[in-house]
Amino acid sequence: MTDTPLAHKSLADRIAVVTGASRGIGRAAALALAEAGAHVIAVARTQGALEELDDAVRAAGGSATLVPLDLCDYDAIDRLGAAINERWGRLDILVGNAGVLGKLMPLGHIDPKVWANVMDVNVTANWRLIRSLDPLLRRSNAGRAVFVSSGAASSCRAYWGPYAVSKAALEALVRTYAAETETTAVRAMLLNPGPLRTAMRKAAMPGEDPETLRTPEELAPHIVRLASPDWTGSGTIFDFPTGRVLTPQKPA
Ligand code: NAP
Repeated sequence: MTDTPLAHKSLADRIAVVTGASRGIGRAAALALAEAGAHVIAVARTQGALEELDDAVRAAGGSATLVPLDLCDYDAIDRLGAAINERWGRLDILVGNAGVLGKLMPLGHIDPKVWANVMDVNVTANWRLIRSLDPLLRRSNAGRAVFVSSGAASSCRAYWGPYAVSKAALEALVRTYAAETETTAVRAMLLNPGPLRTAMRKAAMPGEDPETLRTPEELAPHIVRLASPDWTGSGTIFDFPTGRVLTPQKPA
């Protein structure tokens, strides 16, 4: 953290919601956004980890509002929108990052509860966030929504069924939202982080040496860039492994 005055920071006075801010990619994104000057509304279930994030944000000279919330509690997502409306009247940045892996196993063996939870967190919660926060993003002069997908959405590897299906659905959701906001100041991006050193990756690939992977902190400046008013892309995928913006194929 430098001692740049807040007014000179790229996201000074911006209001940002980050889901899954308690660890991994979401935590790194929340801290980087706060360092860039945004006030971060940090969402996750684990209150202690949110409080540790708050300490780090304050130490960096930033500010955060902590929202301990289970994203499967959709009424709570509606209340979050109402509370942001009451306090700020707008939202500048939404980072829909929270996600779960579920279990890696053949489609025929998956417990319906596991399937439902993966869809609830990875798909429906992001739709409910859009439903609750879209009016507030439209009130920003440059609303930016960034949703964290995965290469699994298109690789369709054996045993990754619920996760792959959920990320493919997320991509359809966000591309639809981008189309619906095309003529507004809102831009909606997808992000493929590639393999990063987090708890989720460890659970998916227990035999892998985490030291061989890039970190969420290396990705975080790109999330700041996607969240910035001068980012113009929408409905496309920022692919961190290649550093390229990918445009999904549309039927002729
Ligand atoms: P992680 O370390 O497991 O973190 C997941 C985050 O989601 C945690 O902050 C967790 O917070 C939150 N979360 C999960 N369920 C929630 C719920 N019901 N309500 C509220 N928050 C919930 O995972 P990560 O690797 O950082 O993953 C972040 C995103 O990147 C995910 O969407 C993942 O699919 C995607 N991704 C990751 C990788 C990778 O290699 N790491 C690769 C491709 C895509 P609490 O447990 O405190 O609620």
